[in-house]
Amino acid sequence: MLDSLFKPRSVAVIGASTKELSIGNRVLKNLIDFGFKGSIYPINPKADEVRGIKAYKSILDVPEDGIDVVHMVIPARFVPQAFEDCGKKGVKNVIINSGGFSEIGPEGEAIEKAFMEVARKYGIRVLGPNCQGIINSDPEYRAYCNFTFTMPEPGFISIVALSGGVAEVIHQGFSAMGVGTRIYASNGNACDITIPEIIRYLGDDEQTRVLVTYVEGLRDPEGFMQAVTEVAAKKPVLAMKAGRTREGAKAAASHTGGLAKEDLATDLIFKKAGVLTFTDEGQLIRAAAAFATQPIPKGNRVGIITNTGGPAVIATDVLVAAGLEIPPLSEKTEAFLKERLYPEASVHNPVDVLATGTAEHYRACMDAMMEDDNFDCLFINFVTPFFVDTDSIAREIVEVNRQRKKPIICNLMTDTRQWTETVRILKEGEVPFFALPSDAARALTALVRYRNILNRAPGEVKDFTDIDRKAAATIVAGVRGAGRKTLLAGEVYRILEAYGIPVPAWKVVGDAAMVEQAANEMGGPVVVKADAEHIVHKSDMGAVAVNLPDGAAARKAAEEMTAKLGGEGLKFLVQQYLPGGKEVILGAKAEPGLGHLIMFGIGGIYVEVLKDVVFNLTPVTSTEAEEMIDSLKLSPLLKGVRGEKGVDRAALVELIQRLSRLVSDLTDIAEMDLNPTLAFEDGLSVVDARISL
Ligand code: ADP
Ligand code: MG
Repeated sequence: MLDSLFKPRSVAVIGASTKELSIGNRVLKNLIDFGFKGSIYPINPKADEVRGIKAYKSILDVPEDGIDVVHMVIPARFVPQAFEDCGKKGVKNVIINSGGFSEIGPEGEAIEKAFMEVARKYGIRVLGPNCQGIINSDPEYRAYCNFTFTMPEPGFISIVALSGGVAEVIHQGFSAMGVGTRIYASNGNACDITIPEIIRYLGDDEQTRVLVTYVEGLRDPEGFMQAVTEVAAKKPVLAMKAGRTREGAKAAASHTGGLAKEDLATDLIFKKAGVLTFTDEGQLIRAAAAFATQPIPKGNRVGIITNTGGPAVIATDVLVAAGLEIPPLSEKTEAFLKERLYPEASVHNPVDVLATGTAEHYRACMDAMMEDDNFDCLFINFVTPFFVDTDSIAREIVEVNRQRKKPIICNLMTDTRQWTETVRILKEGEVPFFALPSDAARALTALVRYRNILNRAPGEVKDFTDIDRKAAATIVAGVRGAGRKTLLAGEVYRILEAYGIPVPAWKVVGDAAMVEQAANEMGGPVVVKADAEHIVHKSDMGAVAVNLPDGAAARKAAEEMTAKLGGEGLKFLVQQYLPGGKEVILGAKAEPGLGHLIMFGIGGIYVEVLKDVVFNLTPVTSTEAEEMIDSLKLSPLLKGVRGEKGVDRAALVELIQRLSRLVSDLTDIAEMDLNPTLAFEDGLSVVDARISL
């Protein structure tokens, strides 16, 4: 339980400095300025008092045992001994603000190890080192255990981050918007208390309605995924993603001791866990502000009320582009509003009450739309003309907002220095308002995105009963035993067959004469492919001959390949030729700590150019497999265009899941691809596959 850390009743500062411009002094000042409700103990061997509070020479001299939080703002080398003292005093949590630990290399790492040993001995929990600390704005605690300078108003948004810098930017963003925040935690090197642990704590914290997080590369991807999955099912989790570009990732790797890996896996974790991701901190902040006060809409249908034309159009564009709908008013609403509004008003969605529209007009619209089953949420465009009573309009919006029937997002276009009362009413009434139509529209979009996440059918990981895992594992073990990394064609196809993955009839043989015989036995047109470990891209090397009508033609092709590629160790795959079919590509790649990435895309010779591929993480559920297929840019091609028949979607969904199962079982597989897989109207077949360990 992290309660004693986030809801402290007593705080000591080891290294409470009398120097104003120092962290040890600032932490103390922050506690005082923020109105900390508990006791404060500055520790300083030389001073009698710091910032007017009695100081103690050592933590051992403090008259209270079992202090909740101790800040350490002292050089790294003194930290282990300070932990000993804290242990003797029964201290519960230590926040180490100082740096000089694992982030600087082996020397600092050794100190980190040393104090962690002491901490474990005494059961002290540690936040940091090299971190900012925590803030809890709850009026009962008012704990500013942090050296930053943004003093938040109480609110419902909690923030957790590894990197203090980004968390602080986000924190300031809320503050600048006048949006309150609740708990803030930045844990630096995270040598003990982890981000997943804090996320779980905030998930259980009832007053936290929205959770905002920022991570740079994940140390424990599995633990992170579990924690966010749990919490995102209960409340919205919004994540800021940075390090998307190669340059960004490098910058992230060079501090906080963080391990910014490639961005893809983190993205997939977020997606699988149901986290809303943002690449723009402004959008994240505004979305969080909306979540903090608004209910989650039941669906994506927006009713728009406006008193000005153009801005409503801008908002509509953003909403529609994000997949939200602007349905017509019900007949009842339309009839009702025709009676209530000015005759010139536009009584369609968006409803334009005109610039002269009054508080009564706004109220009539809101009431009608709240009752109208055509709408799940309201978007209010509100410009403040000097000739109407805008305070009254704001009051009506607030009153309807209090009913919490459907979410309301407001685009308030005003001069905030003049219309201070209108602004104050909306703010106190917990109506989220934004200055630009697109910004307001995007905040609403986020609410709907979360609804879609909650509605997402989890899908199931299909349990295939026709799989011969043992046979496949034996083949892999054999290849390992032989010290090889790449599997030969026969091994690959036997594994696919063991996993019920459809392949054309095939046979591996040793020379051209046997190729002829095999082709004759197979009957019909065949394909001949040279097979050796060193042959990777077969067509490039002339190692593939397709559509060979009979045994003689197959033999000739094999002889030509022998002449070209040299006969030593060369084998041949004789394979049934399958005409037609659309080429798709599937692949898998091991992702340490996360299982495997599964790739699906449109294949063929243009695969490198189109790069129309999507990824997911194992295990892929049926729903996710469907989503993968649908999210390809060229997915209409698979459905069939211009009278052409589509391909067997059910078979593709099953293949993705069988591949997911295969690599989940055979964890030794580093990479594999099924390229191409020929998808037909009825069924599919993998005609080329590679597996490497
Ligand atoms: P590589 O990818 O190593 O160059 P492939 O085995 O994928 O070799 O063969 C190259 C191309 O030949 C495939 O992309 C596919 O278009 C075609 N092809 C291969 N095998 C078959 C087959 N059995 N039936 C129909 N077409 C095939
Ligand atoms: Mg191929």
